[in-house]
Amino acid sequence: MTRIVIVGASVGGVKTAQGLRSGGFDGEIVVVEKEDVAHPYDKPPLSKAYLTSPDDLGAIRLIDQEDLAAIDASWRFGVAATGLDPAAKELLLEDGERLAYDALVIATGSRARTSPWGEGPGIHVLRTTADAHALRSALQPGRRLVIVGGGFIGAEVAATARKAGVDVTIVDPLPAPMSRVLNEDVGRIFLDKHAAEGVRTRFGTGVDGVERVGRELEVRLSDGERITADALLVGIGAVVNTEWLEGSGLVVDNGIVTDGRLRAIGAADVFVVGDVCRWQHEDGSGSTRLEHWTSAADQARLVAHNLLSPAEARAYVPVEYVWSDQYDWKIQVVGRTGSAESQLIGDPAHDRFAVVYSDGARVTGAVIVNWPRALIAARRAVADRGDADALVTMLTEITAKAPAPVVS
Ligand SMILES: Cc1cc2nc3c(=O)[nH]c(=O)nc-3n(C[C@H](O)[C@H](O)[C@H](O)COP(=O)(O)OP(=O)(O)OC[C@H]3O[C@@H](n4cnc5c(N)ncnc54)[C@H](O)[C@@H]3O)c2cc1C
Repeated sequence: MTRIVIVGASVGGVKTAQGLRSGGFDGEIVVVEKEDVAHPYDKPPLSKAYLTSPDDLGAIRLIDQEDLAAIDASWRFGVAATGLDPAAKELLLEDGERLAYDALVIATGSRARTSPWGEGPGIHVLRTTADAHALRSALQPGRRLVIVGGGFIGAEVAATARKAGVDVTIVDPLPAPMSRVLNEDVGRIFLDKHAAEGVRTRFGTGVDGVERVGRELEVRLSDGERITADALLVGIGAVVNTEWLEGSGLVVDNGIVTDGRLRAIGAADVFVVGDVCRWQHEDGSGSTRLEHWTSAADQARLVAHNLLSPAEARAYVPVEYVWSDQYDWKIQVVGRTGSAESQLIGDPAHDRFAVVYSDGARVTGAVIVNWPRALIAARRAVADRGDADALVTMLTEITAKAPAPVVS
């Protein structure tokens, strides 16, 4: 195999390139990235510290200069892939070039869903550094920010903005922050946290429209309330970047569909990683697409291995993991959460707790806040499908022996 082309230079694409080199690949690697940036950067800080720190792309580089050089790839920043001809094994670029490949890895990720209430000054989404720079200028003490969408990104920006002294309101038709993933009861713990930190919350309420009144925005809520804001962040989810594959023959269904080893259905020698990947489970139990940093990195390592050692190709069978930083809470989510069966251990008022999710008997997932030891135990229990009562008892005993300090 002489040339591997990777589309997308975020975590999925860069970790694939790194995995190929560390696995001994000595052919050519070409990375095609539509954003015109100086080097690959990381997205999680965009809703956290980066939003209120100085404008320095170097602070969020995905990979340091030395490791980047060691990959020894041709980096084609500022060039979008616009089509794919799998029969000819060619990637079509926006500048008209047809780039031949022996194997192709697609890591084009997703983009922020655009605002249904119009765009223009003061109306923001958050996915790229350009988005973060635009939003940052709105985060001045005393300014009024309305965040539509109480998912992970909306909740993180609320926390970051509050710390900066911004007057924040979150609006979401769902009953509580992150409740789609965590379930309503657990979401309410986070609702209380945001409220305690001074965020105004309008959960269970939608947005009917946004009007401009001079330099201000007037947000009309479904219950008739009007909120005046200086800025609006629309955090209503992401859309996969797959339009460029139209006519390629690849199977696209809210993500590019792959087999269990992440090889695209409909094109040999094409693999998919990261947010854009929808893989079919090898046991026939359906398909999944994740939007987590760690999944993109793990899939990249797996694809590098499967490309270099096809005879020992492995299936992707993850223990899902995602983290979020909100105020002084380090939130870590493992496995499948959201089922109705969930048990709280510890006290959120003490800023350390866990929630164990189960199918009634076995652990399916957990949410851990500020509790590394519980995370280790929960991860193991999720991977082994351990007994839920046993995990709850163990965490309860730890709490009894070493209670979290009471925070005044
Ligand atoms: C603000 C923010 C905060 C986040 N925080 C967390 C967190 O705390 N924890 C967590 O687990 N996850 C978090 N995530 C999610 C995580 O960052 C993503 O899951 C991860 O970035 C996915 O990586 P990816 O490589 O699959 O895709 P992306 O990061 O979406 O990158 C895709 C790349 O492909 C490029 N591209 C797209 N189309 C083309 C094309 N046609 N041609 C060439 N290039 C193209 C894009 O420009 C982009 O650089 C966060 C995401 C955001 C936006």
